[in-house]
Amino acid sequence: MRIAIAIDGPASSGKGTVARFVAARLGYLYVDTGTLYRGVGLRLLRAGEDPADAVAAGRRAESLRFGFDWRDSSLHVSIDGEDETQNIRGEVVGRAASAVAVHPGVRAALLQTQRDLGARGGVVMDGRDIGTVVLPKAQLKIYLDASLDERARRRHAEAPGVPLSAVRAQLAARDAQDSGRETAPLRVADDAVYVDTTGRSVEEIVSQVIALARERGA
Ligand code: C5P
Repeated sequence: MRIAIAIDGPASSGKGTVARFVAARLGYLYVDTGTLYRGVGLRLLRAGEDPADAVAAGRRAESLRFGFDWRDSSLHVSIDGEDETQNIRGEVVGRAASAVAVHPGVRAALLQTQRDLGARGGVVMDGRDIGTVVLPKAQLKIYLDASLDERARRRHAEAPGVPLSAVRAQLAARDAQDSGRETAPLRVADDAVYVDTTGRSVEEIVSQVIALARERGA
């Protein structure tokens, strides 16, 4: 059976890496839902609009056309026909994404795209509210976590330009915003398997998720 696997968790918990490997191992599609919020944030910043402006952000989320393309074993994202895969990375866009993600209108506008991608099964989808809101019937839900210190170290290793203490503060602020918002906050779904990745290797976590997926019928 081609099941749906939802992976949620805070920034830099390893969701993307684990989801990508699990999808590759099972021959499933990998869908990174953060790219949608990042795309809205990026386009607002470019237009000189404020991500905190609910009306502007909602309008933007409704009008953007996202395209996903799985090439060279990675996920490429286009917005209105333009490849934005590289431009949506980075903490500036991440912060804008987190700011737009608090608006219920933005979340509503992006929901159907995510559900359509998940509906076909054979998918590993990562984000903040996949198990709780987007795919509540996913056969396997994982909540990936790691200590703030470890997540800051991981993020710092990827982008060493910013001091570790600043990376740590940025992550803590984003976590607080994502967990504290009213609509679809980051939380552990009641039926999720909680996995703490602190001090564990990617390979260990991937094997654990694959084993759980097999138990659930994959
Ligand atoms: O995972 P990533 O860092 O790319 O996500 C960027 C931001 O998008 C998150 O901090 C969060 O605010 C938002 N997001 C969300 N729901 C999702 C995926 C991402 O609110 N399913």
